[in-house]
Amino acid sequence: MLQIAHQRFTCQECGRCCRRFLVPVTPLEIEAIAKLPWPPGERPTRDFYCSIHGHAFFRHDAHTGDCVYLDEHSHCRMHAVFGAKCKALSCRAYPFEFLATFPGEVTTAARYDCPAVLSNTGNPADHYRQNLEEILQDSQLHLGKGFSTTELDGLTRESILALCEFLRKSILEPDIPVNALRELARRLERLGRPFVNDLETLKTVLPSMRDKALRETPPATPGRTWPERIRIRSKILNCLRYDCQTGDFSWGQRFRQAFLATKLFMGHGNPRDFGSHQPDSPFAKARIFDAKAWQSSPSPEVFDSLRRCIATRLESLQFFGKAYYGTPFFKGLDELLETAETALALARLHAAASHPGTLAPADCDFAVALIDHCHGKIS
Ligand code: SF4
Ligand code: SF4
Repeated sequence: MLQIAHQRFTCQECGRCCRRFLVPVTPLEIEAIAKLPWPPGERPTRDFYCSIHGHAFFRHDAHTGDCVYLDEHSHCRMHAVFGAKCKALSCRAYPFEFLATFPGEVTTAARYDCPAVLSNTGNPADHYRQNLEEILQDSQLHLGKGFSTTELDGLTRESILALCEFLRKSILEPDIPVNALRELARRLERLGRPFVNDLETLKTVLPSMRDKALRETPPATPGRTWPERIRIRSKILNCLRYDCQTGDFSWGQRFRQAFLATKLFMGHGNPRDFGSHQPDSPFAKARIFDAKAWQSSPSPEVFDSLRRCIATRLESLQFFGKAYYGTPFFKGLDELLETAETALALARLHAAASHPGTLAPADCDFAVALIDHCHGKIS
């Protein structure tokens, strides 16, 4: 059974996914693509993939940065000549990702690093059900026995679904701070598995526990302490490093990356050093941890995409287990809700390049695209 998250998406044919991202291709796909019978003179290249750390990806043009199959109108040449089915599954599925959850069940959700998903425009995702089911069948995703007991943290399917649904609905309410929901999740974990697995009690107490957490959790002020600053900086750094992957893993590039990483870790440097698409915000000048330098309560719509992104991961369960380094449920949940802090810091970094002190929806959108692009992907 395929469960499709409630999102909207219609491809805007911007070509970003074929330009900015490294797209994986399997050995079987490489073999099939190499044998495609291109009409004479139309084969773009025979050298279409590269290998990074033992994994194959479509090669990018050294000058334009585009996938070697991308044409000047941001369309895939392979798709144009042979149709969608001849493409690699990653290409066919994007921006959707699948996860085998409970026995016999699979969820799919679209990633927020696609501008159409980020802006929540276009068809409801369920419109693509037939196509997604075909891709799922072709991918031969191993359904197996679903989540392991460790991944489930000892919780029952019913309790996990009830808790995720409660948090999903809460997160979509703009007046409920994400850090209060994080505190609620931590309190539930402390109460223990038997408590959370008592479904009737859980459903009864969740609203009052949430209200208590709301009253008792102070407003989020990321980077109050040095350890917190280091943690957030390292998350930002991971996002920037992953996002600038171009397939260049030469020693020169590695040294450069290590140098930039150290600088940023120390609170210096500039995201622009990681790629021309990153904001030009000298770290020290952006003052992202200085609460006084930033408006205290940005309008709720600023964080709209962040709330939707977290809600999608809660709905699709794509935040623990195989979707997040095999992490158990509560740890994955804590990491997911913690992204709100990293997003705020990244949004400030983005805003600092053009309108320091205030946040606009575009700043948060930048942060969400970057964070979701890396979610569960950095090894
Ligand atoms: S990034 Fe999204 S909107 Fe742009 S081409 Fe890819 S799927 Fe389409
Ligand atoms: S093969 Fe086609 S769809 Fe896949 S990344 Fe390249 S241009 Fe995009």
